[in-house]
Amino acid sequence: MLLAKKREEIVFYCQKLAEKGLTPGTSGNISAFDPEQSLLAISPSGMDYEKLTPGDIVVMDLAGAIVDGERRPSSEYELHRIFYAERDNVGAVVHTHSRFATTLACLGWELPAIHYILAFAGEKVPCAPYITYGTPQLAEAVFQAAENYNAVLMGNHGLLALGENIHKAFLTAESVEYAAELYWRALALGRPNTIRKEEMERVAEKFSTYGQQL
Ligand code: 13P
Ligand code: ZN
Repeated sequence: MLLAKKREEIVFYCQKLAEKGLTPGTSGNISAFDPEQSLLAISPSGMDYEKLTPGDIVVMDLAGAIVDGERRPSSEYELHRIFYAERDNVGAVVHTHSRFATTLACLGWELPAIHYILAFAGEKVPCAPYITYGTPQLAEAVFQAAENYNAVLMGNHGLLALGENIHKAFLTAESVEYAAELYWRALALGRPNTIRKEEMERVAEKFSTYGQQL
């Protein structure tokens, strides 16, 4: 089976998305990229995460052709593809409709540096305008809004998180959701303090050697 390990990882993290309540129903999707073969593995469209198996994951090339797999790929294939084609530090993409991040996206707000954990994403999380799901226009707008950040809010839709690998992209999605909830809570009580850009850059530098370096 092509990209067998990446397929297993996608199943594992899709199930984690569902278990952790990070996306409702069959919303959201996950992909991972193999730069050597220039192929990506992506979750299938509209399938219950609990029932996913590695055989349900679809392998595609960057021209949009299905190379391996029986299922219809995620309708957001283009949203994933554009980051692999245009940015060289992206090895995985996690898209969710998580509650608090999507709440901010419904307001068209950016998420400022409310907590240092947001340094996984950058010194803020920008917000892209609303555009119909599954369209190349949405992919282009989200890509433009993302600049060099590792997360983008998608207007009236959800969140996109990027990483060198699935583990990091998932951690970023989880961290943005956590920070979005804190922002919402802090705004309910007063005027939250935010962390300066230079400090967020220092934290991002520290994060590059944080943890077990697997
Ligand atoms: P898929 O089930 O086709 O991946 O779509 C879900 C989604 O979130 C669309 O934006
Ligand atoms: Zn979506």
